[in-house]
Amino acid sequence: MIKTDNKSILITYDCQNNRFTCVDETSNHFVTEIEKHYMERLEALAEAEEPQVHFTECMLTDIDMVQKNYRIGFVCPVPGTLISVTITEIEAEPPGCHKAHISSYDELTGLLTKNAFIKKVEETILHNGRAVDAGEYALIYCDIIRFKAINDMFGMAQGDHLLRYIADTLRNTGEKDTLIGRLEADRFLIFTHHVGDQLEKGVETVLEALSNYRLPFKITCNIGIYVTNEELLSVEGMIDRAVLAQSSIKGSYTSTYKYYTESMRKDMLGEQEIAGIMGNALEEKQFVLYYQPQYNHANGRLIGAEALVRWMHPEKGMISPGIFIPIFEKNGFITQLDLYVFEQVCVFIRKCMDGGLPIVPVSSNFSRYDIFLPDFVAKLEEIRKKYDVPTEYLRIEITESVVVGGSQHANEIIRSLHECGYIVEMDDFGSGYSSLNVLKDIELDIIKLDMMFLSEDSDSKKGGTILSSMVRMAKWLGMPVIAEGVEHLEQADFLKSIGCEYIQGYLYSRPLPEEQYVELLSKSEIGTKIPQLELNEKLNACSFWDPKSQETLIFSNFVGGAAIFEYQDEKVEILRVNKKYLQELGMNFSEKEVIDADPMLFFDETNKKIFIDMLKKAIETGEEEECETWRTDPSVCCQDDGICIRSNVRMIGKSNDSYLFYAMIRNITSEKRHYAEIMEILKRMGKFEENDFGLNLI
Ligand code: C2E
Ligand code: CA
Ligand code: CA
Repeated sequence: MIKTDNKSILITYDCQNNRFTCVDETSNHFVTEIEKHYMERLEALAEAEEPQVHFTECMLTDIDMVQKNYRIGFVCPVPGTLISVTITEIEAEPPGCHKAHISSYDELTGLLTKNAFIKKVEETILHNGRAVDAGEYALIYCDIIRFKAINDMFGMAQGDHLLRYIADTLRNTGEKDTLIGRLEADRFLIFTHHVGDQLEKGVETVLEALSNYRLPFKITCNIGIYVTNEELLSVEGMIDRAVLAQSSIKGSYTSTYKYYTESMRKDMLGEQEIAGIMGNALEEKQFVLYYQPQYNHANGRLIGAEALVRWMHPEKGMISPGIFIPIFEKNGFITQLDLYVFEQVCVFIRKCMDGGLPIVPVSSNFSRYDIFLPDFVAKLEEIRKKYDVPTEYLRIEITESVVVGGSQHANEIIRSLHECGYIVEMDDFGSGYSSLNVLKDIELDIIKLDMMFLSEDSDSKKGGTILSSMVRMAKWLGMPVIAEGVEHLEQADFLKSIGCEYIQGYLYSRPLPEEQYVELLSKSEIGTKIPQLELNEKLNACSFWDPKSQETLIFSNFVGGAAIFEYQDEKVEILRVNKKYLQELGMNFSEKEVIDADPMLFFDETNKKIFIDMLKKAIETGEEEECETWRTDPSVCCQDDGICIRSNVRMIGKSNDSYLFYAMIRNITSEKRHYAEIMEILKRMGKFEENDFGLNLI
């Protein structure tokens, strides 16, 4: 049962000074585990008057935070002196127990699975032998925001690392008898005693720990808390209530928590109320359109607007779409509403055309349910033709969830929208479902990048790096980007500096009622329509973002180091690297660090010139070019001469004065050194002489 490839870890515990001794980092990690789980036993052994030998089998987390089975031996030959603790990994399960265990613990985090969590909570409650008291326990539900985006941007391994980090944070924060489970993906459950303000302190500690996680943007999570009541409620019922509390803050991009209250459930019932009155509300024209203008930040001109619906309820006042849209999506009414909004947009543009007002395109939002209607495009066309509005003034916004997985159907719809001349935009890009790879499968015209998903750390350079690499990649895909949710001038300026000048957000204007929007239109300078970016030479650049393309396969599996970078005005910005690239550099960089860094900083002037000259030549010839350069890591002092890299580059795309390059690199430092040594020997032997051109054979 003991794994043969695993050595035992030996830790000694000094009974006199209560101190552990161990040899390395791995053992250090296990000291923490032993302290956490076996301190009581150690103390008992330390006080024993006879020599002691004990063995136990249990699960511990290893240094990578993976839960594994271990056999632990406690041996104390001379009472009251030293206890040796040996920890040996054993095969996953004692025979016969395999299945039982698999179903209890989540493989990745070592936390309880949903079913095991529910069972344990039931056991805890039953163990009391009485109904739980009001306020006795709390069930906490924790959902990470934008987790999918993390997977997309930084890879699954990084996503897994984060999940383990969270699991560990929860484990370290919880009291001894706290139950912690992973519901699914990035959702966690905690069941704990609810004592005074300790719960809130614990929650704050977790939020704080998450915000300290090392990623370019802050990890945030929304937490819902259900505190037990005297009512008899199943564990599933408790989970539902914690989830309901959480969903009342869902969409908040700061970390927060909320307690479940009865009124939340009553609001839920409001759902049915809403369903009862919505049809009538539509007939009575209670749904009103607001228009949020979009600007070109480079010249301050108005270039379009987005229609956003509001419900002007005669008694409740204005209800925001955030409240009723999800309900309409659930009960199917959304389609009727969206077509109504689209019709009102057509009416509005007709009015502008007839009244001689300046006209800019208006986008309408469509829910993912709409576009799956069999005659969706025909319905739009029918409405549009009724008002005789040219399609060039109508943009169709669909959310990224529609295009997840490169759905065949979504593609067909988009194609027929294109055939009719509509511009199709992808809304809420960056909210977590899609990656740029997805974009490649779908022929969209414009990406809407929601700053709320990205801008938390807008002041930090790193947050900006993700944004700029997204904008740049979008550019190489030939798609213009509208940034929405832009609230500050610095954000807009920054966006402009990275090539995204189209802006929608409070900085320029909030959504306006029609009347105010008309007023704005009549006094605005109107910009030209968003142009399709011209890629003079697109070559095969696009294939590099397509996960299934031959290029990507070669890129990822290429035995050597490869990178894709952009070059403009003697500046190089790396957009993608493969694993081998990092190994070739050999400086322990992560992909993220390489992309963040300015590669030119690694060159001295001479080497920089060699590299740039090669790029210029590659641009000129369009052929593959090669150079050898020495580079050093400027952050490391007192190093030797760094590394020598042979780079082969080829230009794969060109747009105005920026160029996209594919590079293959090889670390040739040792060859270089070896060569230099041989030369040195030959020189000493008098076989070579040095002249201006290097070394010549005599
Ligand atoms: P969305 O399509 O992403 O619309 C942008 C939302 O961001 C709008 O919220 C807008 O008011 C808000 N916003 C704009 N600039 C800023 C800013 O600088 N800062 C902040 N914090 N927010 C900003 P709104 O109008 O409440 O709409 C919410 C969502 O409701 C929309 O998000 C959209 O998904 C949905 N929605 C609105 N109208 C319709 C519609 O007619 N049909 C459908 N299916 N969905 C709609
Ligand atoms: Ca939208
Ligand atoms: Ca949006």
